[in-house]
Amino acid sequence: MKAYEIPGHLEVKGNHLTIGGVDAVSLAETYGTPLYVTNEDRLRDNYRRFSAAFPGVSIFFAAKSNNNLVVQRIFAQEGAGADAFSDGEIYLARMAGIPAEKILFTGNSKTDAELQYAIDSGVMVSVDSRDELLALSKLAKKAKKEVKIAFRVNPDVSADAHPKLATGLKVSKFGIPTKDIVSIYKEAKKLPGVNPVGIHCHIGSQILETAPYTEATNKMMDLVEQISGFIDLEWVDLGGGFGIPYQKGTKVPTPKDWAKAILPTFKARCKKIGISPELHLEPGRYMVADSTVLLMRVNTVKKAYKNFVGTDAGFNTLIRPAMYDSYHEAVIANKAGSPAKGEYTVVGPICESGDILATDRQLPVVEKDDIVALLDAGAYGFCMSSQYVGRPRCAEVLVHNGKADLIRKRETFDDLLQNQIMPGRLL
Ligand SMILES: *Cc1c(COP(=O)(O)O)cnc(C)c1O
Repeated sequence: MKAYEIPGHLEVKGNHLTIGGVDAVSLAETYGTPLYVTNEDRLRDNYRRFSAAFPGVSIFFAAKSNNNLVVQRIFAQEGAGADAFSDGEIYLARMAGIPAEKILFTGNSKTDAELQYAIDSGVMVSVDSRDELLALSKLAKKAKKEVKIAFRVNPDVSADAHPKLATGLKVSKFGIPTKDIVSIYKEAKKLPGVNPVGIHCHIGSQILETAPYTEATNKMMDLVEQISGFIDLEWVDLGGGFGIPYQKGTKVPTPKDWAKAILPTFKARCKKIGISPELHLEPGRYMVADSTVLLMRVNTVKKAYKNFVGTDAGFNTLIRPAMYDSYHEAVIANKAGSPAKGEYTVVGPICESGDILATDRQLPVVEKDDIVALLDAGAYGFCMSSQYVGRPRCAEVLVHNGKADLIRKRETFDDLLQNQIMPGRLL
């Protein structure tokens, strides 16, 4: 079996890559390229595998990792809540059918309008600063509402993530320093319109070790111990960040391993304090990354300094390699069972030298019109795409039971013009 095959999800049939049993090459022909293809069953499997390892834990899907309504709808059906980073994400989560009381509005630097939207929607808010606390309290009081809040703690935990993906370091822009936590809960308790019921942290993304979670659990429980005398704590939220093996062979903890790193510590510390708050987790990437492949067509193969494979998707379609130096496995979908014959670098059609999707890969002979599949493209993929260089955004399809449904239309030139206004004097 090839390293990238996952039974029932990604397989090779008749030398073609299939996703959820559907031929990737025929999907590229039917819907055009670039194309994001998501396997519904894989989304559900990921959710169920993760939640089975964490019995009794509430899962809030990190909506920013994949903003497709259908994906969030599927998780809503599985029982997930949502971690929304903006008012727009609150809106999308509610449109997907996630009840307001299962939505946590996280994020830093929220506008007053966003806070107002959160109050009107009835969601919970993870407060990232004292300014935000005061603004929220004032707005909620005026609206005669009471908002359930948590504070986002900066736990000062160093996880071995890419610097742009570490969010729990002392120097990070996120969260409130631990030394200020007790006093801010005391202050919040006295303020109208806000009811501090939770405590929240999120230590980073694409984390591949379990130890930072145990450390974060302990640091959070130290704080819980200090506030539980005067705060009736309903939940502790340890965020997301659970990594996946983009590069096959990477050693990655399983959900059971993550659970072992968190649950016994959490439970023992709760017992010692004499409280029984719920535990919340906010996986994004783990739920969606490997559910999706990005299909793109080869326009040119050029033998220059290297063998460059020029495709129709660049960092306008998938920014992760350019932004985070991230690795995505590349498979020639119409030659998926053929042996490697050469070294190729897969590049996009954007006018920047950083527009490289896969570097120095061993692939079968690559030719014009082949279909390249980049694997594990479901997290921070389409949602980070843009129209840079005048390229309309691509389409998304969902595969299920051997059938495909278009779940996002390919944009057209009209979409490039949308919202642009030509002043009359220039007509
Ligand atoms: C982005 C984010 C997550 C999800 O991170 P993943 O690495 O995708 O699991 C969870 N919680 C918060 C607050 C986030 O900002």
